[in-house]
Amino acid sequence: MKFCRNIYNRVIDNKIVTNFSQKFLPDCLILYYHDVVTDEQFEKIEGPNKHLVVKESEFVKQISFLKDNYEVISIREVGKIKRSSKPKICITFDDGYKNNIHLVYPIIEKNNINITIYLITRILEGDAWVWWFELWDIIKKKNNIRFFYDSKNYQFSCSNIYKKNKTFYEIKNIIYKLSLNNQKKILSRISGKKIRPQYRNFFLNKHDVKSMDCSFVNFGSHGHSHLNYKFSSKKEILDDIIRSKIVLKKIFKKDTHDFAYPYGSLKEVSLENTKFISSYFETAVSTDQNICVNKRKEFLPRISIGPNISISDFKSKIIGTEFLIKNFFNN
Ligand SMILES: [Zn+2]
Repeated sequence: MKFCRNIYNRVIDNKIVTNFSQKFLPDCLILYYHDVVTDEQFEKIEGPNKHLVVKESEFVKQISFLKDNYEVISIREVGKIKRSSKPKICITFDDGYKNNIHLVYPIIEKNNINITIYLITRILEGDAWVWWFELWDIIKKKNNIRFFYDSKNYQFSCSNIYKKNKTFYEIKNIIYKLSLNNQKKILSRISGKKIRPQYRNFFLNKHDVKSMDCSFVNFGSHGHSHLNYKFSSKKEILDDIIRSKIVLKKIFKKDTHDFAYPYGSLKEVSLENTKFISSYFETAVSTDQNICVNKRKEFLPRISIGPNISISDFKSKIIGTEFLIKNFFNN
């Protein structure tokens, strides 16, 4: 296994392979993160929300690699700058987690690079409840979950870590298709509590976002309520994006031109709606990782950077070797 790994690392470090991969990649790659946590915090996090975090020590290595090998550009420059000697990369963060100010900001400021953070504006307005944190908080304490919703009885086992994870994703599939009010209703049935817990310490607030220097951080909209637009009417989508633009304009005293689709794949927004939503912004990014195929300006592809990715995995992702190998085996 270690021998294979060494060969693989040699392949991705090879200049010819790198140059070959670059030919198939778009002019600029866009990366997306959610949260960066200290190495100590990282070890303590368990469950499905761990996919949102990257270890601080890994993030430092990743930024240093990007700084040495790439021209880091802002989201607004994507598609506008012609190819230069160095390949281009753009760094984005979704949801607006608190450590974006405590851990990410000092690192990008020190390296003099620009990032875009897409904010859920309902959280800036004071409602810092999100279903994914409350659902996991409930599941990790229980052995089973029973609830009645929409004329149906549901029952899930949470007796071990495997079943807890499975239950999380099964309930997620019900919850994330609902309106915000119905998400709250279902969580109150599951928890047996009327009041939703607030996760203010997990997210940036108005004061945090205003205190970051705009030459390092650009803020975009991630919608007002983080809805699954595939299950929303055109009016609900329009209300959600306009509301988020109003909140951001009130805070920053200027219009917001950048958008990240909540959840972000074509499972969560129809192609038809991407055209109408992106008409309200200059850039609109997705979580579609099909960087070699997706050339849609209204649904820009991004590469996900998650936990447990070593610096060589990171290089292979952004150099394009991983995508070439995947495409090769898919065809
Ligand atoms: Zn999100």
